[in-house]
Amino acid sequence: MSYRIDLFSDTMTKPGPEMRQAMAQAEVGDEQRGEDPTTNALQDRIAKLLGKERAVFLPTGVMCNQIAFRVHCQPGDEIIMDEHAHPRHFEVGAVSALSGAQVYPIKGERGIFTVEQAREAIRPSSLRNFPATKLISIEQTTNMGGGAVWPLNTIGDIAALASEHGIKMHMDGARLLHAVVKTGIPAAQWAAPFDSVWIDLSKGLGCPVGSVLAGSDEFVERAWRFKHQFGGAMRQSGFLCAAGLYALDHNVERLAIDHENARRLAESLARVDNLNVESPETNMVFFDVSATGLSAAQFNEKLMEKEIRLSPVGPSRLRAVTHLDLPEGAIDETIAAVTAVATGCAA
Ligand SMILES: *Cc1c(COP(=O)(O)O)cnc(C)c1O
Repeated sequence: MSYRIDLFSDTMTKPGPEMRQAMAQAEVGDEQRGEDPTTNALQDRIAKLLGKERAVFLPTGVMCNQIAFRVHCQPGDEIIMDEHAHPRHFEVGAVSALSGAQVYPIKGERGIFTVEQAREAIRPSSLRNFPATKLISIEQTTNMGGGAVWPLNTIGDIAALASEHGIKMHMDGARLLHAVVKTGIPAAQWAAPFDSVWIDLSKGLGCPVGSVLAGSDEFVERAWRFKHQFGGAMRQSGFLCAAGLYALDHNVERLAIDHENARRLAESLARVDNLNVESPETNMVFFDVSATGLSAAQFNEKLMEKEIRLSPVGPSRLRAVTHLDLPEGAIDETIAAVTAVATGCAA
């Protein structure tokens, strides 16, 4: 089944002709031996973009998170993150399965917690029966938090606290470049307070596969061992990395269009009776449909009859994610279709 207007996620994009051409023409070699020039070029470029010594190409964002956790933590350690963070819900329990660590969840506001909340969550090292707090992980932008952007000064305060306690900082930067385009603050400035940070090439940048994890030389050297151990060391990955290089050249600035589309969608839906719309910051629009008497899944079913798909993310909460593959007129059509379903009339 394909949807004409697929707002399920910004992962729904498919490479266009130019990206495919760049992939087909890539110079390649064995990445495990450091002999793939295109993979090396992408890693170097992203290390520079994020202001880190080194970077490593990985197949997925989940693997970036899990390798970073594995490097930073031992069994029995604890990782502080927002209660709605991706690794807590959508990574098959890998924090415990692969690192033997556990999550200390914080009830944040739109996926963002305060330095006071972080301070309360840190375990006292003087007591032998507590887990050891080893890592604070934050999501930029927050996914289930509504695509919100963590403020730079909050990050700075939390990083200073972490450093006082010898705790490492990790950024799940799946959509970090959205925060960069939204605020004009360079990626390296966002990444500076973090020991490890990654970006996803398949989230709104239009690539079919790939994420890149960055940090110090020592961090990336250890990450490489777990990349092999977790089965993520590839061979001629340059074909995939060529898509990443193409995306960095062509698909970053245009994220502003996705933000504008999300803003316009939310603004129109906010005027519709029976919808409770969260105001968007980047490319995600969340709204609640309880007042329509429909569940989120039922609401989505009705949209799917019109070949428009959103994503139900709770019993009555839906998410629409804008991206580069939306056809001409998609936002207006979506506004009309959602309005029709919400007000109970057939469009
Ligand atoms: C999508 C996502 C991930 C996982 O990335 P994959 O490339 O799908 O494995 C991790 N964190 C956040 C915030 C995400 O949105």
